Order: sequence, then C-alpha cells, then structure tokens
Amino acid sequence: MLFKEIVGHKDLKNRLIRSVLNNRISHAQLFLGDEGSEKLALSIAYAQFISCSNKQIYSPDNELIADSCGSCPSCIKYQKLAHPDLHFIFPVATTKKVNSKPTSKQFMSEWREALLESNYYLNLNEWYAKIGIENKQGKIGVDDANQVIKTLGLSSYEGNYKVMIIWMIEKLHHAAAPKLLKLLEEPPAKTLFILLSEDSNQLLKTILSRTQLIKLLPIKDDEIRDYLHRNFQLTGERIDNMVNLADGNFKHLIPILSNSVEDNPYFSHFREMMLLAYRQDFVKMRSKADELSKIGRENIKQLMQYGLRIVRMCLYYDLGNTNLVKSTGAELNFIQKFSHFVNQSNAEEISALLNQANFHISRNVNAKITLMDTLLRISLIFNQQK
Ligand SMILES: [Zn+2]
Repeated sequence: MLFKEIVGHKDLKNRLIRSVLNNRISHAQLFLGDEGSEKLALSIAYAQFISCSNKQIYSPDNELIADSCGSCPSCIKYQKLAHPDLHFIFPVATTKKVNSKPTSKQFMSEWREALLESNYYLNLNEWYAKIGIENKQGKIGVDDANQVIKTLGLSSYEGNYKVMIIWMIEKLHHAAAPKLLKLLEEPPAKTLFILLSEDSNQLLKTILSRTQLIKLLPIKDDEIRDYLHRNFQLTGERIDNMVNLADGNFKHLIPILSNSVEDNPYFSHFREMMLLAYRQDFVKMRSKADELSKIGRENIKQLMQYGLRIVRMCLYYDLGNTNLVKSTGAELNFIQKFSHFVNQSNAEEISALLNQANFHISRNVNAKITLMDTLLRISLIFNQQK
C-alpha cells in the first residue's frame, strides 16, 4: 500500500512520512477513525514506508513529500501483506476450524484475504462473517497477548523495525490488557505498535495515556473528487455522481470502482424495487428478489446502504432542505418524484426496514426471503398512504 493509493488525509500522510524521514517514529501510536475510514490502509502504508529500501522523495510542490517505491523486495512483500516484520492482531473467537484458544495467527490467511478483498476497508461485521463467527463476540485475548510477546522477542528479519498492527483495540479483553500495557510501556527496541480504534470511549485510559493519538478526519468531497480524477480519470457528471454516492465515506465506492466506473448499478436496482413495491406487483417483486439474491451479500448490503441514502435525500427534499440533496441527473430526478411517496410520514419506517435487511444479510439470513419481505413491507407502507 502506497500513501498515494489512499484517498485524502494529505496532512496526516505528510506528518507520518516526516516522522520517518526525521527518524522520530513514536513507538506506540493510536489511529482513531470511524468505521469505513482509512485506518488500516494508512497504518500499512506507514509500515511499508518505514521498511522501504528505496524511498521516493518528491519535489516540494508535490502533494506528498515522499512515498514508498512499490518495487523493492520489502515493498513487494508488503503488497502481499507477507513481510516477515509485519504482524497483525485482531479480534477472534472459536470457530468450526479453531475450536479452542483462538489466536490471530490461526486466522492469518483469512485476514490477508479479507483485507485485500475489502481494499483495506474491513469492518467488524465483515470480518466476523469472513471467519464465520457472526453470532459471537470476537476478542483480543490472553493467548494473543502472549503471541505478541513471543513475536517481539524474536529478532527482526533484516534488522529493521518490527511493526505490530492491532486492529480494533477496543476488543482487548481485560485479562490480556496488563501484558500489552507492559509492552507499550517498555517496548523492545525498533518496535512500532500501531493500535487502530473506532471508538475512544471504549478504550482503557491506560492505553490512551501510553500512545500517541492520530485522529483521522472525515474525507472532504473535494478530496474524493481529486482522487477519482487522478486515479480514474473521471470528469463531469460521472464524478459528481460518485462524490454524491460516497457521501463522505469512500468505502461506499469500493464495489463500484472495483467493478466498473460506468454507471451506478444500485440506482437502477433500487428504483425498480421501489416502483414494484409502489405498484404492488407481487410477481415481479418476487423475481426481482430472486435476481438480487444472486448479486452477492456485499452488493446487497451496498444496495441497502444506497437505498438509505436515497430515502434520506427524499426526506431532505420533502422538508425543503434542497441544499442537503447531494444528487444530480437521473438520480436527482428520481428523488424529486420519489419524495411524493417517501417523505416525513414514512421515511423513518422505510429506513428501519432497509437497515433491518442490511442487518439480516450480514447475519447470513436467506437473501431472497429477506429482500421479498422488505419489498412487501415497503409495499404495505406505500399502500397505506394511497
Ligand atoms: Zn520500496
């Protein structure tokens, strides 16, 4: 992961880069950012830059002051998340495969896969679904703390920094905390701890006091625009659509960018779903549910997220807050018309149904039944209004 591959965070990237160039890497850092932010990507880019043997230093007028080369032996290992000095700890629980004393090490291949598949935008539900522990709470337990001590006791691969990235440190089990705190207080030489968290309120004060806090700010629309322009050569209305769809969270764009940058596939699906529900066309509703059940859980979840955004925009439109309606073209046209049917009287109810569908899909409930049920309930809401 190169810094330039990550959207936004220009100042933060340069601050991290400067800490490496000036040889002032603080040994324990806490990256705090919302779900769907670039914490994982930034922590890996940071570690890769520290280890890169051919750092690229840019001219002063460049947005970034430096970056990894992306092609030295260290960078190549980093790009496969397989560098021997890069270590990860994350919440786990017992599964069919690992039925006692689960540790992060036992899930490393799933972890690498999940990171690469999600483009480093993994969230906790997605991770639990990946390893099949949806109904349990994962934790970072004593066995993992012992593993950290063992790993850091070994000498590093090429005499370089050893980097320990601990994802979702708020899931640290109280029994494991003392061991980790001791390490943070008296770290072995040339060790970097990067702790990642979504919620500082859930963190132990003792962790906060032992780490340097790095706060990730939400990405601005202009940063997303700039990134899409530079990396995907998008312009005009297409770029407007994408910025609207991201709605401040770049994670929303990942499925679209990884497929094609043409049109937004969720728009036509969602529009059709709503029209069928409005017309109470049960036969076509069933075949639509069937069709959508085959696009994959991640896509269905994105579709529900998209629907939630449209409902919100309809509500803004209905309330006369048109400056909050971030939309253009056919989508805006749809929102204007659709706001006659989705408005103050039912937006909350419809949003709750879409949220519930999203939840059921992430919990592996049958997709076709979930979608049909959601359509029927929305249809009922529309019908009450007529
Ligand atoms: Zn390199």
